[in-house]
Amino acid sequence: MGSETHKSTFFTGAQRIPPDHDSPVKANLGQGAYRDGDGNPWILPSVRESRRLLQEQGLIHEYLPILGHAGFREAVARTVLGEELFSTKGSHVATCQSLSGTGALHLAGKLIARTNSPKPKVIITDPPYGNHFQVIKDVGLEYETFKYYDAATKSVDMASYRNMLQTVPPGSVILLHACAHNPTGCDPNKDEWREIGQIMKSRNLFPIFDAAYLGFNSGSVDEDAFSIRHFIGELNLEAAICVSYAKSMGLYGERVGAVLVHAASKDLALDCQSMLEQIQRSQVSNPPAFGAKTAHLILTDEKLKKQWSEDLLTMSGRIRTMRQKLYDALHEEGAPGTWEHLINQTGMFGFLGLSSQVVVELREKYHIYMADNSRISVAGLNDSNVKYVAASIAASVR
Ligand code: PMP
Repeated sequence: MGSETHKSTFFTGAQRIPPDHDSPVKANLGQGAYRDGDGNPWILPSVRESRRLLQEQGLIHEYLPILGHAGFREAVARTVLGEELFSTKGSHVATCQSLSGTGALHLAGKLIARTNSPKPKVIITDPPYGNHFQVIKDVGLEYETFKYYDAATKSVDMASYRNMLQTVPPGSVILLHACAHNPTGCDPNKDEWREIGQIMKSRNLFPIFDAAYLGFNSGSVDEDAFSIRHFIGELNLEAAICVSYAKSMGLYGERVGAVLVHAASKDLALDCQSMLEQIQRSQVSNPPAFGAKTAHLILTDEKLKKQWSEDLLTMSGRIRTMRQKLYDALHEEGAPGTWEHLINQTGMFGFLGLSSQVVVELREKYHIYMADNSRISVAGLNDSNVKYVAASIAASVR
């Protein structure tokens, strides 16, 4: 009633973001979620069994503690650090359950913002995972970017990386992708990680590991956690690790994650954990229970853990196969240019390296959707669409 003429004095700064496309979808390669060979979401057999067991035990819906499910928090630390490192460093690690990886980044960011004066700058890769900017701004920290990717060689620009590490102010925070860099799919190799860690230690830089793809990348958590374990185990660096089970367990909507903080002493770890508890209290009070219980069983029951390892191989293997199939199909179509980068990249995303004009043409003419920077979710490819996608790319780049 009269609402159209009513002038609000609030919300005048509210802005809309453009709506999603609603055209007929031929290939949706934009969304970062795993799809099976038929293009459908996949419930991991380990998750299905865990849910069944939970139901059988009788699910209750009480609040979790503010820090989250204690068994889950410990299981995450054991899994990410590995049993050996956990036995020596576990007591120096604060843990707090989070609203998936995004929530973990928030908790880590807030903890850093509240415990440092002056507040350090956060260094983000360019190209970035877009939400890093928003989260870092939101927690009250400033950021800068550095050139991470060399478009000519389609690989990590180590010269630029080194230069950044050697010139940022001591105490700066470096936001690292533990594995499967989003969006480029290009990671430092093990020697490069060792070098990055060494410089960070000598220059007193603080790593936040965004660990959204542990196990999902190679099929092995141990392999994907190399950078984290090296920094903590070999270099004894303080660090925050933001863990997500969205991709690796397919628990996207359940918001299952945790932040781990490796501190220089047991006492400091307890202080950090108390800070995390205070931050969590004001943000969400208590984290959600169902996903954490589901993940906890998977991480602690030997049979379920084994099944999860197989599930990780199923997902990472299918993605690797689709990379190869896209590469082969582009060759068969005679698409101009080199495409080796597609099989050299790792993780869910393929960074095609197409111009924005080509991305628009693929969208408007062929109804193939991808991020504006030509990042595709390789998981969106399957035997029914990969040839169509390759033929459309070939026609558009000609
Ligand atoms: N970091 C990176 C690099 C990601 O790709 C994602 C998932 N798109 C996330 C964090 C967080 O995702 P979630 O909050 O769903 O765990």
